[in-house]
Amino acid sequence: MKRILVTGGAGFVGSHLCERLLKEGNEVISLDNYFTGQKKNIIHLMDNPYFEVVRHDVTSPYFVEVDEIYNLACPASPIHYQYNPIKTVKTSVMGAINMLGLAKRIRAKILQASTSEVYGDPRVHPQTENYWGHVNPIGLRSCYDEGKRVAETLFMNYHTQNNVRIKIVRLFNTYGPNMHPHDGRVISNFIVQALKGQDITVYGDGQQTRSFQYIDDLINGMVKMMDSEDDFIGPVNMGNPGEFTILELAKKIIDMTGSRSKIVFQPLPADDPMQRKPDINLAKEKLKWEPKIPLEQGLKKTIAYFDQLLKEDSSI
Ligand code: NAD
Ligand code: UDP
Repeated sequence: MKRILVTGGAGFVGSHLCERLLKEGNEVISLDNYFTGQKKNIIHLMDNPYFEVVRHDVTSPYFVEVDEIYNLACPASPIHYQYNPIKTVKTSVMGAINMLGLAKRIRAKILQASTSEVYGDPRVHPQTENYWGHVNPIGLRSCYDEGKRVAETLFMNYHTQNNVRIKIVRLFNTYGPNMHPHDGRVISNFIVQALKGQDITVYGDGQQTRSFQYIDDLINGMVKMMDSEDDFIGPVNMGNPGEFTILELAKKIIDMTGSRSKIVFQPLPADDPMQRKPDINLAKEKLKWEPKIPLEQGLKKTIAYFDQLLKEDSSI
C-alpha cells in the first residue's frame, strides 16, 4: 500500500484519479481549495477509511508524508483560469514550487499534470513532445499556458539540481462524468445545452479542431506513467489522436441526444488554438499505452451522466 497525495483531488480528473488509486488499495489524500472542484465528486469515497480530504490552497506550503504526489491543482477551463489570471499563475508556479519542495524533502515521486496548451496555437501538427510551441506570452490564455510552462521548467530543474523523481504528462482535452455542468469547456457546454434544448454555442466558424480523450483512458495513462521506470520522466503527450472540428462535435452531440437545439455562432475568443492533435508515439513506445475509447462511446457515457444530473437538479 502506498500513501498518495492528489492535489486538485475534488476536480474532474482528480476525483477519478482518487477513486482509481483507492481501488488499487492505496491510501489517498485529496488536497483542494474547491475553486472549480466539488465535494460531490468525491463524496462517494468518504466512507473509505483510507481516503482523507484536506481543504488547502497549493499556493501555501503543505507538509505530509507520502510516497507519491500527483499535482493537478489548477483550474483547467478557459473561463475559470481567466477569472483571476494572477491567481492562476500563482497556482501553477507556487503550487509547483511547494509540491516539488515537499517531494524533495520527503523523497516522494511527483507527477505534473501539464497540458497541450504548452504548444499554444501550434505550427506543428500533430504535436510532438519536442515541439517548443507557439504561445502568446501576454495574451488571455497566457496565465494558464505560461504558468504550466514554468511549472515544467521547475520540474526539470528540481530533477537535475536536486534529483527529485519527476514525471511530466501533457494532457490533451479530456472529458467525462464529474465535469462541472457550468465548467465552460466545450463538451460539457454542448451536452448541457443539447439536453436542455438551448442553442449550441459554437465559437468562431467551428472549423477549429480538438482531439478528445475519455477520462478512463487518461487515468490509465497517468497511473502507468507514475509507475514507469525512474529514468522516463517525460514530458509525454496523453490524448486521443482522433481529431474533430468543433462544428462536427456540435452536430454529433445534437444527433446523439436527439435534441432540437439549433447551432448559433458566437465570436471566437482571442488566441483560441486553430488545431490540436497529439502525437502519442512516445507514450505507445515507453508506456505501452494508447487510448481505447472512441469519441462516440465516451460521449454516450458522458451524455448519460449529464442527463441524470439534470433530472436530479432542475436548477442546473
Ligand atoms: P478542474 O478544474 O475540474 O480541477 C482542478 C482542481 O484543482 C479543482 O478541484 C480546483 O478546485 C483545484 N484547485 C484549483 N486551484 C487550486 C489551488 N490554488 N489550490 C488547491 N486546489 C486548487 O480541472 P481538471 O480538468 O480536473 O484538470 C486537472 C488538471 O489537469 C489541471 O492541472 C489541468 O490544468 C490539467 N489538464 C486538464 C485537461 C482536461 O482536458 N481536463 C487538459 C490539460 C490539462
Ligand atoms: N468552444 C465552443 N463553444 C463553447 C465552448 C468552447 O465553440 O461553448 C470552442 C472553443 O472556442 C475552443 C474549443 O471549443 O475552440 C475547445 O474549448 P475548451 O474550452 O473546451 O478547451 P480549450 O481546448 O480551448 O482549452
